[in-house]
Amino acid sequence: MLLKGSCYCQAVRFEIETPWYYPLMYCYCQFCLKCNGGPVSCNVKGKKADLKITEGEDQLTIYRIRQCERAFCRLCGSSLYLTDDRWPQDCWPNAAAIDTELPVLEQQAHIYAKFKPSWYTIHTPGPQFDEYSEWWIEDFHREWGLAESDGKQR
Ligand SMILES: [Zn+2]
Ligand SMILES: [Zn+2]
Repeated sequence: MLLKGSCYCQAVRFEIETPWYYPLMYCYCQFCLKCNGGPVSCNVKGKKADLKITEGEDQLTIYRIRQCERAFCRLCGSSLYLTDDRWPQDCWPNAAAIDTELPVLEQQAHIYAKFKPSWYTIHTPGPQFDEYSEWWIEDFHREWGLAESDGKQR
């Protein structure tokens, strides 16, 4: 599915063609909490080679934390996507930056749930993990029968 995304002020626009477009992983880690300014974040996943910045590349700014890079708009601060040196082929667009309508799910996987702020209650059903889950985003797509397979066999 072709996903189109943008920051709040519309200075930066991007698109990515990806089979992993279900917004199924909710993250409560401190990085997501602080950087995105909310109690929960959701990323989709794609291949870095398929990510195209279609507008405002000069406004795109990178914040590096350990092996991860967070790309955001330097004008409005919107989080756009993450990359990780450990998986240099991949990228994780922020589902909230995607303008294309994403499919609705009956359940989500909740990761780093032990770091969730006490004032926030998880409302969506689905498995909860203290840290990262044993499955990747593409595993959930496959195991929950969503989208295309990436060809890997478990
Ligand atoms: Zn912006
Ligand atoms: Zn997180």
